Amino acid sequence: MKKVYKTVSSEETIFLAKEIMSSLPLGSVVLLTGDLGAGKTTFVKGVGEYLGIKDKVLSPTFNIMKVYFNGDKSLIHIDAYRLEDKSIDIGLDEYIGYEKGYTMIEWPMFISPLIPSHHYLVDIKNIGDDVREISFEEVNND
Ligand code: ADP
Ligand code: MG
Repeated sequence: MKKVYKTVSSEETIFLAKEIMSSLPLGSVVLLTGDLGAGKTTFVKGVGEYLGIKDKVLSPTFNIMKVYFNGDKSLIHIDAYRLEDKSIDIGLDEYIGYEKGYTMIEWPMFISPLIPSHHYLVDIKNIGDDVREISFEEVNND
C-alpha cells in the first residue's frame, strides 16, 4: 500500500526518513526517485542519522557509490545518475541488498537490471518552495 506524506523542510524529510527506515528490515533496498534537487540525498542523510553514522552523508554523484560501514548496520548509498547510457557492470551488484545494511539508490532507472524484484520505493516531488510530497511503497515483482 502506498503512503503519501508531505514535508515542509529538509529537517522534516530527515525525520520522516528515520521513521520510515525504522519499519524496514536489514538488507532492504530502497529506490529514490524524483527530480534533481527533490530531496533524495536529504532523505539518505536521515537514514545515516537513523543508523548513527558519524560521517556526513554527502551526494555520491561523482563516486557512484559510498559505503558507510557501521557494525551490523551499514549504509550503501548509490547515485546512478552518471551511469545513464554507460556500462553498469562495475560491481555494484556485490553491494546492492547487502544483508548487514540498507541500500539506498538514487536514479535507479539507470541501473534497472541490477534492482532486486523486492524493494521499496520513495518518490519525492517538489511542490513549491520547501514543500515536498513524499510517497512510500513496498514493491514485490516476484
Ligand atoms: P536530490 O538528491 O534529490 O538531487 P538534494 O537532497 O541533494 O536533492 O537537495 C534537496 C535540496 O532541497 C536541499 O538543498 C534541501 O535543503 C532543499 N529542501 C528544501 N525543502 C526540502 C524538503 N522539504 N525536503 C528535502 N529537501 C528540501
Ligand atoms: Mg542526490
